[in-house]
Amino acid sequence: MRYGETGYNLEIDLTRGSIERVETDPKDTELYLGGLGTNAKILWDRVPADADPFSPDNILIFSTGLLCSTPAPGANRTIVATYSPQTKFMAYSMMGGLFAPELKFAGYDKLIFSGKSPNLVYIWINNDKVEIRDASHLKGKGAVETQELIKKELNEPDCQVAAIGLAGENRVFMASIEQGRSSASRLGVGAVMGDKGIKAVAVRGTKDINIARPTEFLQLCNEVLEYIKFREERPIPNVMTILQGLGSPQEMKHTDEKWHTENFMWGNARTRRKDFWNDEIEKKWEKTQLGARKRLISCYNCPMKCGAIISLPGMSTYMMKCFSKLTYTMAAYVEDLDFAFRIAQRATEYGVDGFSTPQTMAFAFELKEAGILTDKDFEGTSAYEACPTDNEGRFYWLLDRVARREGIGDILADGTYWAAQKIGKGSEAFAHNNIKKHEQLPLKLGMLNPVYFLMYCTGEKMNITQIEGQFPQSPFMTMEEKEEFISDWIQVPDEKFKQYVLDWEMRGEKSNPYYPTPEIATDIVDWQEMMHFVDDALGVCAGLSSFPLKPPYHIHNYPKFVAAATGIDMDEEKLTEVYRRNRNLVRAINVRRGLRRVDEKPPEDHWKKRFPELEEKLLDTYYKFKGWNNDGIPMKETLEGLGLGYVAEDFLQRGILTD
Ligand code: SF4
Repeated sequence: MRYGETGYNLEIDLTRGSIERVETDPKDTELYLGGLGTNAKILWDRVPADADPFSPDNILIFSTGLLCSTPAPGANRTIVATYSPQTKFMAYSMMGGLFAPELKFAGYDKLIFSGKSPNLVYIWINNDKVEIRDASHLKGKGAVETQELIKKELNEPDCQVAAIGLAGENRVFMASIEQGRSSASRLGVGAVMGDKGIKAVAVRGTKDINIARPTEFLQLCNEVLEYIKFREERPIPNVMTILQGLGSPQEMKHTDEKWHTENFMWGNARTRRKDFWNDEIEKKWEKTQLGARKRLISCYNCPMKCGAIISLPGMSTYMMKCFSKLTYTMAAYVEDLDFAFRIAQRATEYGVDGFSTPQTMAFAFELKEAGILTDKDFEGTSAYEACPTDNEGRFYWLLDRVARREGIGDILADGTYWAAQKIGKGSEAFAHNNIKKHEQLPLKLGMLNPVYFLMYCTGEKMNITQIEGQFPQSPFMTMEEKEEFISDWIQVPDEKFKQYVLDWEMRGEKSNPYYPTPEIATDIVDWQEMMHFVDDALGVCAGLSSFPLKPPYHIHNYPKFVAAATGIDMDEEKLTEVYRRNRNLVRAINVRRGLRRVDEKPPEDHWKKRFPELEEKLLDTYYKFKGWNNDGIPMKETLEGLGLGYVAEDFLQRGILTD
């Protein structure tokens, strides 16, 4: 009997129209756990290293995490993995909500799509019965609308549907996969789904998941719930509001946006508006937000309620969470929050990433102001009007063009990096906020922070908010504050992290950029990465683990969860080794696709003050710690020590490593 997992994947070849239920190897679960870990192993084994993201050889995996569908609070992530059309590297984008638990209750740990369907289809998984169904009647429908239409068509109000909108159908590089209470938005996973001809996946599951040691497991779950309550009653003092609690950033709950609106840049990461926030705006925005927000909602089996149902007159309802409340508003320089809720509804129906899309549109208008794009690029055709001149109107107009790949929208649909390559004429300088060809948070700071430097450079999730956590973002002002912070810091893997907090100063030699030192910065990044990699293998939401300070899940209780759920013999040392194996495998996949040190650079203007020598030293130290060579390539001994000898062999054969 398999515990914690179903032991089966569902494999669908869209070219042949075949459907197969395939038993998985329990040894792989021990080595890589589930979710991201086994996704990486499958990508490595099955997809040619040079496969184009839009070739039938590329695969698209919807994976549950190892703890999904168990009673572990917040274990609900779907880890969608494929090769990204935008970066060309491995994409793994997370989706919360209810999809992964439903899939596992239907009897599958993963859905693996290969090939391409000649016609638009949707997949209907009803426990053991699986069908590939015609979706021609859903062509062009919105991502949220499609979910409702499929539920009605199947007469299954309780099934979970993940769908793409028009942007995915048109292979827009920023296309997302939308699912009821969440979305897998980043790196173009929706474009790959559209390329494969899949409009939606609907799933209904009513089976059980076996737990190896249920009493012990439930006890652990109760401890997590108790700790969540404890933390809710005791917000962390002396840090900014959004860092005080647990969960995804509670943007639907909080209305105070002073920090974001004054510290994140407006436009395409261009303008900081230091005195933007005032009483009048606060009152106006609060009224708009509370008016639009019908109720707060949670993902499967989680008490945190990070999302909200949004409803405004004349619009169908949708779910919003996190920063999409601000990204369109700030990119368009619109000071009315109502615009954010309205345009986000349209963007959600199109199915696009709420970070990259507004950045790309702001980039286009910057190019127009600079004379690189001209009025001709924004004129009308027989099918549509010319671009309006007001800020709101022109953003709606361009969003429509991008999702439909019409006119200039066709070029912009590939994101700022690829659009700049096509447009030329100096537009490359305007695509200034990318790492590995991917748009980053519009945050520009003064002094280089060595921990963030390393995370930005080396992170392969490509999204800084999904790499950070655990360690404070800036030093505390006084020794009393530091001592208070470390007094109940049970999550640290080693006591040395407490000393790092005590030593870190606002000014002087123990301050940024020279403190944390490269060695200490590497330690901190390694811990943060570890927690993200473990979450992404177990399918636990980062909002309860790797993202906030002092979360309920940590390296000391995670091994117990894994052991009690699956019966696998697990302790901290072994879990750390699984993390290192998965981290190196993801890196190896990308190395095989060309990732090198030269790619690991934050945007030039990310910090005002840069330190080239120190930055090189930081990368050297991090690579050395990881057992990678100076080009960021895992070395033979490192790979072999982690049971990844097959990767070392492949690297030697390709000449990526020499013996
Ligand atoms: S913490 Fe928030 S985002 Fe995470 S599972 Fe819970 S409700 Fe969902």
